[in-house]
Amino acid sequence: MDYLPIFCKLTNRDCLLVGGGEIAERKARLLLDAGAKLTVNSPTFTPQFQAWAEQKQLTLTYSNFDPNLVIDKWLIIAATDNDDVNYQVSLEAEKHQIFCNIVDSPKDASFIMPSIIDRSPIIVAVSSAGKAPVLARLLREKLEGILPQHLGKLANYAGYLRQKVKTVYGSLTERRRFWEKLFVHERLAQALANNDSEQVELLTDRLFSEPIENRGEVVLVGAGPGDAGLLTLKGLQQIQQADIIVYDRLVSEDILNLTRRDAERVFVGKRAGYHCVPQEQINQILLEQAQKGKRVVRLKGGDPFIFGRGGEELETLYNANIPFSVVPGITAASGCSAYSGIPLTHRDYAQSIRLITGHVKDGSHIDWQSLAAEKQTLVFYMGLSQAESIRTQLINHGMDSNTPAAIVEEGTTTKQKVLVGTLDNLHELALQARSPSLMIIGQVVALREKLNWFFSS
Ligand code: SAH
Repeated sequence: MDYLPIFCKLTNRDCLLVGGGEIAERKARLLLDAGAKLTVNSPTFTPQFQAWAEQKQLTLTYSNFDPNLVIDKWLIIAATDNDDVNYQVSLEAEKHQIFCNIVDSPKDASFIMPSIIDRSPIIVAVSSAGKAPVLARLLREKLEGILPQHLGKLANYAGYLRQKVKTVYGSLTERRRFWEKLFVHERLAQALANNDSEQVELLTDRLFSEPIENRGEVVLVGAGPGDAGLLTLKGLQQIQQADIIVYDRLVSEDILNLTRRDAERVFVGKRAGYHCVPQEQINQILLEQAQKGKRVVRLKGGDPFIFGRGGEELETLYNANIPFSVVPGITAASGCSAYSGIPLTHRDYAQSIRLITGHVKDGSHIDWQSLAAEKQTLVFYMGLSQAESIRTQLINHGMDSNTPAAIVEEGTTTKQKVLVGTLDNLHELALQARSPSLMIIGQVVALREKLNWFFSS
């Protein structure tokens, strides 16, 4: 982090703005909005500055930059059109250890101004540390679009109810549940936006009289194959509302960073052949946390119902009568297929897809005969260590040893690696790959030559 974002309380605090032109005017407006006691220093001023001075909103000092004005200020902004003057201001500020912003010159500044979305009291500030101002502006526009205009009213109303909520609900969990209900209450938001106080009161009374659900629940969420952008919107909402997140190795750091800061994180990573936390213990953790009234998210790589043992975990909850729900995720086969340019079906080459686990419970039987049939795509999960036997079985059951094959390692991430060969050298390919890797076997693999669009390292 190059800069620490903070929100400064400037009300009645002495601040200095150097510059009297239009750019300075914009800065003055922001400082005045924040309630600063503003002195502005410049040899000349725009009419707007003069009007502000007449209304006693700020003080004008007509002169070239006067270093004495820096003393005892909380914050300084240099906004003249002269780089030398701006630089001189920054040196003076530095000498007195006062935060100073230089318009258009972040390198000399000790603070920078973010792009702001103002729904006071909700304020969102976006910064690119001066590296990509256009990107920051685009982000700001996006956020402007998704943050409803009435957000400020809702936040103010929450402030007004805060004390009452504290009195009515004893526990933190209950309070949070109440707020979550309030903030997604569309009709209440509309009533606030319309200043319809009667309706606001009625809906609020109703919210207070409804029982707060105190039973925990578990949401099984698919995190997708790696790229955080592939998490679903619903998955994102769920992980942001969770009290506790139970996750495994395949969940990327980028996705974990999207969780609430105060949510508890429990790692129950599993690797092929080596189980950090036994499945029964994971089931038990989910159960105990939900029984304590927690909102538990069980976060799994890919899709929880595809080689994810999601079913087993939910059965335990079903038996204990704990409510649960499932948010699907993009499974590794879809993710790796898209990001390696290998369509899993194609009208000419493959009419069906087989998703197969390379690891099978003892006694399970794989129907190699049907897997070796033509016009289908085989996708092996957890198959690296079995590559040799997969190759031998398929060839023994009649599959052409020249059938194209690919191994996608860490698919959809910036570390993605794709190894392409044939069924015949599948084992050699597997020796070069590391987990997590997916094996794709079928004619469709050849399409990658034209369709590869995602270039990673
Ligand atoms: N539920 C997951 C699969 C879990 S099994 C899903 O739907 O994707 C774990 C196996 O998935 C790994 O051994 C590997 O074969 C595959 N896998 C998961 N993420 C992967 C990725 N990003 N790239 C390649 N293979 C991946």
